[in-house]
Amino acid sequence: MFNRRKFLEMSSLGLSAISFSGFTPKNKGTKPIVISTWDAGLRANKAAWEILRNNGRALDAVERGVMVTEDEINCCVGLGANPDREGHVTLDACIMDEHANCGSVAFLERIKHPIQVARKVMENTPHVFLVGEGAQQFALSQGFVLEKDELSKDAERNYKEWLKKSEYKPIINVENKNNQTAWAPTRFDDGTWNHDTIGMIAMDAAGNLSGSCTTSGMGFKMRGRIGDSPIIGAGLFVDNEVGAAVATGQGEDIIRIGGSHAVVELMRQGFPPEEACKKVIERLLKVKGEKAKDIQAAIIAINKKGEYGAYCLQTGFNYSVCTADDKNILLNGKNLI
Ligand code: ASP
Repeated sequence: MFNRRKFLEMSSLGLSAISFSGFTPKNKGTKPIVISTWDAGLRANKAAWEILRNNGRALDAVERGVMVTEDEINCCVGLGANPDREGHVTLDACIMDEHANCGSVAFLERIKHPIQVARKVMENTPHVFLVGEGAQQFALSQGFVLEKDELSKDAERNYKEWLKKSEYKPIINVENKNNQTAWAPTRFDDGTWNHDTIGMIAMDAAGNLSGSCTTSGMGFKMRGRIGDSPIIGAGLFVDNEVGAAVATGQGEDIIRIGGSHAVVELMRQGFPPEEACKKVIERLLKVKGEKAKDIQAAIIAINKKGEYGAYCLQTGFNYSVCTADDKNILLNGKNLI
């Protein structure tokens, strides 16, 4: 529950009053390392780790990793996910490498792996961002296949249920509401998913950073709506000299505060990843005020030393960290309210 006293305390403290010196990083830096949002990240990390452990490039790892989630038809990402309010699944994704190269796609329909298309935008065009029909045309020109325009069984049921009221009300992102195991797709008894994104950041054995983010966006969104996930600086940011950050949650509010870029800039100033994420979530709380209780937002980060951290607005955010073959763990993000 939203704690009013805590909110007032936070607001009156402002950002500068949070003690930097009082913070101790909880984890020792290590590389390679891959971390990703939510429990689906455990499976995605596994695929990314296969590349990292063989001295592969972080860029390949973060692309391959989130493709696992895009493939999970009953998951919250990819073509099996909840549609927009007109019944179409529209996908957003972005990727960024150690040279500040980046590529994004948004409002992309009927293409299975938007993250791969984002990488092609980065590597095969002079642009950074393609959307809608243009993004789809580009994907086809690169050999991607147009999938059927149909909803997965679960998404169809969710959509029919949603149509009964047809109201857009972002659901607060939480995991384990039904005490699900870490490996179960996060879905409530009523069939709704409560988040729609995977973000992944990695550092390879050579010490280079990359990140990826892919999503179907908020379920039952307005047609054409794009959130933070494909927006470099909001949903994802990588600076190979400093660190990388990726966000999940209410995209509109993450955009408002330039979430991932802000975290990287705080790490540049010397803040450890967890503290940098915390400060940015505090900024969001300050901007949203009382309305913060209605949304979720979370950011995860790693720095150049291979230290990692995360922070979220409300309880219920998990993230997955992989640092060795047998060390792929799910952690609770610390929450502000
Ligand atoms: N950030 C995503 C969006 O706003 C949603 C999510 O992370 O669940 O599209």
